[in-house]
Amino acid sequence: MKLKLYNTLSRKKEEFKPIKKGEVGFYGCGPTVYWYQHIGNLRRYVFEDVLYRTLVYNGFKVKHIINVTDVGHLTSDSDDGEDKVEKAAKKEGKTTEEITSHYFDAFQEDLKKINFIQPTKWTWATKHIKEQIALVKKLEEKGFTYKTSDGVYFDTSQLEDYGRLALLDVAGLKAGKRIDMGEKKNKTDFALWKFSTSGGKRQQEWDSPWGVGFPGWHLECSAMSSKYLGEQFDIHTGGIDNMSPHHINEIAQSETAFGKKPWVKYWLHNNHLNLKEGKMSKSSGKIIRLKDLEEKGYTALEFRYFLLTSHYRKRTAFDFKTMDAAKTAYERLRNKISELKDDKKINGKYLEEFEEAVNDDLNTSRALQVLWKMVRDEKTGGQIGAIKKMEEVLGLDLLKKGKKEKIPKKILDLVKEREKARKDKDWGKADEFREEIKKQGWIVGDLTNGKSGVEKLLFHNELGII
Ligand SMILES: [Zn+2]
Repeated sequence: MKLKLYNTLSRKKEEFKPIKKGEVGFYGCGPTVYWYQHIGNLRRYVFEDVLYRTLVYNGFKVKHIINVTDVGHLTSDSDDGEDKVEKAAKKEGKTTEEITSHYFDAFQEDLKKINFIQPTKWTWATKHIKEQIALVKKLEEKGFTYKTSDGVYFDTSQLEDYGRLALLDVAGLKAGKRIDMGEKKNKTDFALWKFSTSGGKRQQEWDSPWGVGFPGWHLECSAMSSKYLGEQFDIHTGGIDNMSPHHINEIAQSETAFGKKPWVKYWLHNNHLNLKEGKMSKSSGKIIRLKDLEEKGYTALEFRYFLLTSHYRKRTAFDFKTMDAAKTAYERLRNKISELKDDKKINGKYLEEFEEAVNDDLNTSRALQVLWKMVRDEKTGGQIGAIKKMEEVLGLDLLKKGKKEKIPKKILDLVKEREKARKDKDWGKADEFREEIKKQGWIVGDLTNGKSGVEKLLFHNELGII
């Protein structure tokens, strides 16, 4: 079956054909570890994970690299402002290493909970300074750099197609409103190496042929991806906000240094998960973390399910009503699956439909619809076998036996009251208790042995979710 992926370079869905048959080099832009990752950030990794799983499902051998930015990411995209990691270290009174390892560890805990499969390697920017300096040297030898008083810059005016990934209107930029350029020659030029400001205020700085300083943010991705995946590779991912300037600058550096075009064959970008009020950001203080969801009674996998119900390229808004509906649908799906018998067969018809959906640019919402259709189809067999295969892509723990939710004491008390009323043949009162139990989210029924059965009430409104 053909795997089709939407390539930002061509703005089209294309059949995926790796450079080397059967093998995939896959690089994803990772986190800047100066703060906690919020659920908007986690959308990026669920997308990354589904893509990885889909490649493996299709039989590819995948080398998967994700970077960890622990230096050089400035608060402003125009090469000024503070280094985010240095700023956090100063604020929290810690070393930069304490900051980056703390937030990286917190991030890893979240990844584990959302069933994210670890990449082949996490590559840290500060552990690849030598490679980054070598890359600047290469660009310098080719005549694409110049020095200012605060750093070494890449001269973008020498590239005819600079910015094509982001469809950047360079001519319009030139003619447009003034951008504070400092000593930059062109508005789109970017720093490859920044000099430390005098006074030794930085914790992280290194010697280089141009002066003591630190690498520009875009440099690490070109240097580390080429080290582990070669000078040309198959897939590069990121959030849509990484497209400009980060990815167009990665392309400018890499295509100039390595002379391969295109440097990366397929560029995939996931869209944002916003709040109704707008983007989640540290500066606005409006962020939701996985921990916050858990405190409200949702699980990480219910959140994963929520994400899988919409396509990764679609802008999605997070709200608790939709999250509630996802939680209900997920619980219901698991319940339905727990009632299925394993006949040791695999339902080929539904599995094929499922594969068509995920291979159509990772259409996970359609894939979930196929799964729902299959579990509701009472005349079909081989469902458990098919779900085992589907789970390789979905990663939702659908077949794992979970703990049954404990019935709270106040519900049990109400059930006893209702039993008493029934014994007294006070049907009106018994109905009142039933309603009260329902109001509290549980459902009571009468078993054939005369006793009461209690179950968590599940809403029947999963329509619109899947
Ligand atoms: Zn990157």
